[in-house]
Amino acid sequence: MAEALTVIGAGPVGSLLALSLARRGHEVRVFERRPDMRRVGIGAGRSINLAVSTRGLYALHQVGLDDEILRQAIPMRGRMVHGTSGEARFLRYGRDDSEFINSMSRGELNKLLMTEAERTGRVRIEFHQRLVGYGAGRARLRDERTGEEREVEATVVFGSDGSASALRAALALSVEQSSLDFGYKELTIPPAPGGGFSLAKNALHIWPRKNFMLIALPNLDGSFTCTLFLPFEGDASFASIAAPAAGERFFAETFPDALALIPRLEEALEEAPLGRMVTVRCSPWSRGAALLLGDAAHAIVPFFGQGMNAGFEDCTVLMEILDRDPDWSRAFAELSEMRKPDADAIADLAVENFVEMRDKVADPEFVLWKEVEAELSRRFPGEYLSRYQLVTFTRIPYRIAQEAGRLQTSLLRDLTRDARSPSEVDYSRAHSLIRTRLVPLLQPHGLAAKHG
Ligand SMILES: Cc1cc2nc3c(=O)[nH]c(=O)nc-3n(C[C@H](O)[C@H](O)[C@H](O)COP(=O)(O)OP(=O)(O)OC[C@H]3O[C@@H](n4cnc5c(N)ncnc54)[C@H](O)[C@@H]3O)c2cc1C
Repeated sequence: MAEALTVIGAGPVGSLLALSLARRGHEVRVFERRPDMRRVGIGAGRSINLAVSTRGLYALHQVGLDDEILRQAIPMRGRMVHGTSGEARFLRYGRDDSEFINSMSRGELNKLLMTEAERTGRVRIEFHQRLVGYGAGRARLRDERTGEEREVEATVVFGSDGSASALRAALALSVEQSSLDFGYKELTIPPAPGGGFSLAKNALHIWPRKNFMLIALPNLDGSFTCTLFLPFEGDASFASIAAPAAGERFFAETFPDALALIPRLEEALEEAPLGRMVTVRCSPWSRGAALLLGDAAHAIVPFFGQGMNAGFEDCTVLMEILDRDPDWSRAFAELSEMRKPDADAIADLAVENFVEMRDKVADPEFVLWKEVEAELSRRFPGEYLSRYQLVTFTRIPYRIAQEAGRLQTSLLRDLTRDARSPSEVDYSRAHSLIRTRLVPLLQPHGLAAKHG
């Protein structure tokens, strides 16, 4: 019989990992510090809904759950950008309606994965169990209800215990952490009176305001979960809107259309916890037969919608490596070496995308670039894929998507130098630039060939 494995943390990544390992015939014990969210009404942590895209869906497909997840999700085909005077403009994410991201409840996704893992009969999740130490193949756990501590054998251990990972600390792996000077609060737009959605359903809504922004993702019940991103301090900040009625005044000036949709804004702002956003870069991700995955190894800021998708992709890649080399320590070291440059790339891209979302989407030059990009992907499918498409709709390594993004920036700058609209671009020159610069980068990863 295969040896028993230990997973710390039953978040989305730990639950998917336990399920994947069980499907390979392993017995898996999972220790989770929180109560069972299927039995008690706790939130699934920060972010009520999130965007699942190709990398996450591929990992879910490997365990046969992608169709089920898609049934519970709402497709978002692009960004609906809301201006200051109430006008809205739709910017498509992909080349057509076939490319979209999926708004999904994080809690429901997590619950489904836990249930499917347990249904294998090989996974046992123990709740209220916090990892407080690890050494010499033994994990020390504290029962969160009684405070009692015990030790269990855990010779092969996976740390999917999130951005403040206790396993990471116990393994004394080297970590770099940085946090943004911005925080976030979640608010809710309820379903429209009589049911239905009070904003366009199949879009990710953004109210970009240069140094800050509001976004909204749809939920199945017709509501939207909004996230307000603001600096902690300064003129327009969480500090400046903390005074009585200041939040409502701020919304009336900056997001009047959203204000009309959010009931009891002042109370909602006061009640919502203020979240921080961190980037964690850990190196390496493994020590012997202990491995970190998901946010424990690489927490990123949420602006590319890739944190969980990247964690799911860790599971995909790990299973591929284990198919070739079942030796735990070697497989863990290989995963760490292979994935670290990609995790670093998506961490950088996520920070860059914050500037794009809050500021550039309102800039006419950027809008022209996006329109030209859409035209290039339509005219040269498979040869021109935007950075967003590469990150979100393919499984090309993140570092290659980052490199392609740099090439595309110089290409778009060059092509739009004298153009005021997409019709003024020289597309035959564009095609030759794409063929000589972009295609050689993507082709070795099977992309240009696949779509071409
Ligand atoms: C506002 C916001 C929006 C986001 N939007 C997206 C998005 O659109 N798309 C996307 O892909 N990602 C998004 N993310 C990122 C995503 O939420 C995370 O990447 C994902 O939850 C990571 O999963 P995980 O299982 O690695 O870690 P976590 O979700 O943090 O789960 C860790 C689990 O470990 C448990 N745990 C922690 N410490 C211990 C311990 N010592 N002992 C035992 N158990 C422990 C925790 O209770 C938890 O259950 C967003 C994040 C935020 C904050």
